[in-house]
Amino acid sequence: MTHGKTLRSPAALAEAGLIAPDRLPALERVAARYAVAVTPASLALIDADDAHDPIARQYLPDAAELDAAPGESADPVGDLTHSPVEGVVHRYPDRALLMLTHTCATYCRFCFRRESVGGAGTLSPAALRKAMAYIAGDPNIWEVILTGGDPLVLSPRRLAAVMAELARIEHCKVVRVHTKVPAVDPARITAEMVAALRCPGKAVYVALHVNHPRELTPQVRAACARLIDAGLPMLSQTVLLAGVNDDPEVLGQLMRGFVETRIKPYYLHHGDFAPGTAHLRASIGQGQELMRALRGRLSGLCQPTFVLDIPGGHGKVPIGPAYLQAGETGQCVEDPWGGRHPYPPGALDPNP
Ligand SMILES: *Cc1c(COP(=O)(O)O)cnc(C)c1O
Ligand code: SF4
Repeated sequence: MTHGKTLRSPAALAEAGLIAPDRLPALERVAARYAVAVTPASLALIDADDAHDPIARQYLPDAAELDAAPGESADPVGDLTHSPVEGVVHRYPDRALLMLTHTCATYCRFCFRRESVGGAGTLSPAALRKAMAYIAGDPNIWEVILTGGDPLVLSPRRLAAVMAELARIEHCKVVRVHTKVPAVDPARITAEMVAALRCPGKAVYVALHVNHPRELTPQVRAACARLIDAGLPMLSQTVLLAGVNDDPEVLGQLMRGFVETRIKPYYLHHGDFAPGTAHLRASIGQGQELMRALRGRLSGLCQPTFVLDIPGGHGKVPIGPAYLQAGETGQCVEDPWGGRHPYPPGALDPNP
């Protein structure tokens, strides 16, 4: 059962028995810099007796967030350098992000936009008009991605109004909604919300951000089923996180959970260099090892693409592992179990 309120301060989390009172002074300093909110559905999943609980690690503030590591930046993926008007980030010609709000239901401690999320900042009606005019004015924009913040914290009425405007833009064929709400507040996915996400004449996809298999509860799976049954295909995105999902069993269970829920695994993100997130970042090498472990062991449907958003705003690229290597007389390809094979067949002996 989940009940109660979203907890929004270290004091409230201490009162709920989730953080030790002696940690409060340091955590108050964290909360003064980065927004804190944990929904009842997420709180219900936290095992307060487990010092390494993977749900707590994602959502409860940690004093380590006060330590900035070399290379970390307030704008790790270069949103600011690609924002032509308020609320729009346009880095790839065919896709534009539309950020309707800076609010999220639950704040992730590793958020790549942690310096801009939080508070009650929603795009003003005037700014929204300008953002829509920008999108309507560029015929290259084939896909509009609603992100933020979390667009599903907005009311169905507001979302329906945005969808109605996008429906009128001829060159926009696809609308993608990036959200965590079905996972952290599944009760918000009401029939009214589902109806609001329809965009007449456009293909609407919902990309769900989940990082641990325990978060795919029956309630969460049911919320996703409501979206998918209404004709909204779903994709997943997961951030590779140290101590949360940097384990082949855990990551495999998560990917299988997505596929069982009819959600196609899309991206496994390498952790961005957001300030104070070093303790949650795994290495690229670890990520590649995990991807190798998934390949061969799990259905092809369960394979996400491991991607890096190149710091500074240079775009997302797949970062392996690579199975094909150039040799002197041909190529060598590695199978899912580590065996090496010449290609074309017979071109060279890779295991002399
Ligand atoms: C991630 C991102 C996208 C979407 O990229 P896909 O590879 O299409 O999922 C679009 N614009 C910006 C600015 C992004 O950061
Ligand atoms: S839901 Fe997304 S935008 Fe919001 S805090 Fe988490 S990672 Fe950041």
